[in-house]
Amino acid sequence: MFELLKTDAHSKARLGRLQTTRGVVETPVFMPVGTQASVKALDPRELLEMGTQIILGNTYHLSIRPGLEIIGAAGGLHPFMNWTKPILTDSGGFQVFSLAKIRKIKAHGVEFRSHLDGSLLFLGPKESMHIQRVLGSDIAMVFDDCPPHGASAGDVKAAVERTLRWAKECREQPRAPGQFVFGIVQGANAAKLREHCAKELVAMDFDGYAIGGVSVGEPEPEMFSAVEMTEPHLPTSKARYAMGLGTPAQLVELVARGVDMFDCVLPTRVARNGTAFTKKGTISIKGGSYKADFTPIEADCECFACKHFTRAYLRHLLNVNEILGLRMVSVHNSHLFLKVMADIRAHLAAGTFGEFRREFIANYRPTEKVLLARQMHAAAKQDR
Ligand SMILES: [Zn+2]
Repeated sequence: MFELLKTDAHSKARLGRLQTTRGVVETPVFMPVGTQASVKALDPRELLEMGTQIILGNTYHLSIRPGLEIIGAAGGLHPFMNWTKPILTDSGGFQVFSLAKIRKIKAHGVEFRSHLDGSLLFLGPKESMHIQRVLGSDIAMVFDDCPPHGASAGDVKAAVERTLRWAKECREQPRAPGQFVFGIVQGANAAKLREHCAKELVAMDFDGYAIGGVSVGEPEPEMFSAVEMTEPHLPTSKARYAMGLGTPAQLVELVARGVDMFDCVLPTRVARNGTAFTKKGTISIKGGSYKADFTPIEADCECFACKHFTRAYLRHLLNVNEILGLRMVSVHNSHLFLKVMADIRAHLAAGTFGEFRREFIANYRPTEKVLLARQMHAAAKQDR
């Protein structure tokens, strides 16, 4: 299913190809997030135009609304939302542990109250795989225990053991035709636990492996180290997916650390606040300085928004709450994430990824929060 085409000579970056029943996915790949059976504010035609190869759907949200009966009656998630290319579904583990109220962790899953109406629900390996089977995703994720950032060593260890037990249960469940199942490595920032979790999962022989327990509020240096301590224990012959990450600059750095697949809500989430990603960092289109700026968000961008509209116009739309404003910033942001990955693939093929990485990172200004985390990490390193 996964073909490793080329490995970069100077980093761990990989050029690959994932063959699914609904077509080929060229990696490294960014997967726009369609949590509620919709990539927020974007329609399938726009997604295809900007080069989307695969999107993400969510077991927890879709099983609560509209419910499995409706999507099952539609013939699965693809026909329900009219998306014909591959879909990866999240198992719901992350949402159960982060969104749902009043959880009771049991041997075969989690009892919780819906974040919507408080009704009592149960989700475990068996239930999650059943839902993902009916959704008919091309890649299903195992149901895992993802502890929050800062969880105690004991809690992280228990989460790893539970994740392994549940992964085995997921592995034994029936699947949709052609459906791949990926294991998820947990273990927070404990190298030994990450290694143990990865090795046990690899022994179960999944179709691909995800690095979980990142994007849970940890600072950037911890996120990179979680990936670095996991990657060496994953087979080169299978796809690797870092869950819920990151900014464009982080994606470039994660590719260099051997990751093939990414998903992130950032492009569409920040668009709703009027924030646009550029190759030089984020800008707030709503800002007064763009009031009479009749240039596009990014001069060399090929997206529909940049080819047709100015910053001044988009700023106006956002300030008067016109839906078109947030739609166009979503178009630009999603296009940028996909374009960065397309550039990465082209440079990997040409053998110039190292130069591309250096230039991209040098030009990209991270947010103050990321810069602060880097400074603190460097200071802590000096103290040691
Ligand atoms: Zn654009």
